[in-house]
Amino acid sequence: MTVGASFRTLGERWDVVVIGAGVAGLSAARNLSDHGLSVVVVEARDRIGGQLYTDRGFTSVPVELGAGLIHGRDAYTWELVAEAEAETVLVGPSDQTADPLSTPEPPHDGEDAAAYLNRLGIPEDRWPPVSIDNEPMHRWSARWMHDSGLFDWWSTPRENFRVVDGYDRILSPLAHGLDIRLSHAVRRVHWSDRGVVLSVDALEGPTEIRADRCVITLPIGVLKSGDVVFSPELPDDHREAIRALDRTDALKLVYEFDRPVFPAEEDVLGWDEDTGFVFWCLSREDPEVVVAWAAGENARRSTAMTVEDRFTAGLTALAEALDETIPEPVARTTHDWAMDEFSAGAYLFVPPGAHDAPAALAAPVRGVLYFMGEPTTGENTVEGAYVSGYDGTDLLMADL
Ligand SMILES: Cc1cc2nc3c(=O)[nH]c(=O)nc-3n(C[C@H](O)[C@H](O)[C@H](O)COP(=O)(O)OP(=O)(O)OC[C@H]3O[C@@H](n4cnc5c(N)ncnc54)[C@H](O)[C@@H]3O)c2cc1C
Repeated sequence: MTVGASFRTLGERWDVVVIGAGVAGLSAARNLSDHGLSVVVVEARDRIGGQLYTDRGFTSVPVELGAGLIHGRDAYTWELVAEAEAETVLVGPSDQTADPLSTPEPPHDGEDAAAYLNRLGIPEDRWPPVSIDNEPMHRWSARWMHDSGLFDWWSTPRENFRVVDGYDRILSPLAHGLDIRLSHAVRRVHWSDRGVVLSVDALEGPTEIRADRCVITLPIGVLKSGDVVFSPELPDDHREAIRALDRTDALKLVYEFDRPVFPAEEDVLGWDEDTGFVFWCLSREDPEVVVAWAAGENARRSTAMTVEDRFTAGLTALAEALDETIPEPVARTTHDWAMDEFSAGAYLFVPPGAHDAPAALAAPVRGVLYFMGEPTTGENTVEGAYVSGYDGTDLLMADL
């Protein structure tokens, strides 16, 4: 399936082929195309957006099965919101959940964040709540958290916003007019100084795509899985960066109820340490839609279960949080990012010793391969992916 206006035969050679139509891949292709280069985007799934995944078939309201929030009023992605003329709403209270930490002494290179904070004598009840949305402190690089300001991230009041008609609305300004080959899974990247030949599994059968340069926006889980083979293999620094980075697990369970369940005065129920879930009410219309969210170790407790048991565990936790009996939902949905072969886990985190890995992966390979997207930013946001696609392709075009 092809989306977009510019159709070419598959035998043709492109200036640039972009692997992945997530936010980073679309931004990269947009920038290159706007500068007059011929570009094709090759996407394994039958939809664009990657980890930004709006489900419109489930209920009366669009449901975000991946990214849901714009973090802060100064995110670059507001320009896409404006271009798409999308409506947004402020979600719940500000993100500020911790006091600023004083970390004057820099961490050691391989030190984990828990060991570092212990070394500084900072008590656990003052640690930033990173495990709510990601992995526990001992799984993080202290150096990365320190250098990228993450120890203090939670101490800055920051408002979160939701796109009312679905987060995927912000994809249209990026995707319009691009040649995007959906349901085209790249299996092998043959590369040399002369360019790339991609071996691709398409619905119509195997095919090849040729280009002078290749932008790679594969998520870290896919890069680590080895499902996409590089031939010859990548340079040592790039392979080491892929080995060193990791991804968390994340779980959203979405329930639709035919009567009000959520307290009228609350939109969000804060993190419950015992169950590991955060709950929020997505819609108070009839039907009411409630989301249960868990990440990292909290998510893994659920993802070890069958899907049926996950839904039951989420409902039980909701009943406990509300201290009420909860009716059976009339509909429900979820997405398993860990089992999804085109993500192989949810978003990125930077483990001890990996603080240099995002920059190492972002280094162009012989002016032919350019990695972009989440693994090269070390961030795990839509905004980070958006900026990465533009910055990375500015670098590519400077090499021409
Ligand atoms: C559950 C969840 C909640 C999140 N919540 C938020 C949030 O609230 N706010 C926020 O800012 N961010 C959030 N994020 C993170 C954010 O969605 C990502 O950081 C961002 O979307 C990454 O974009 P990307 O383009 O770098 O990668 P991706 O979106 O992963 O795009 C990579 C693309 O490559 C494609 N691909 C994979 N394998 C192949 C192959 N073999 N051949 C061709 N194509 C392939 C994939 O299908 C995908 O489209 C969340 C993520 C998840 C999973």
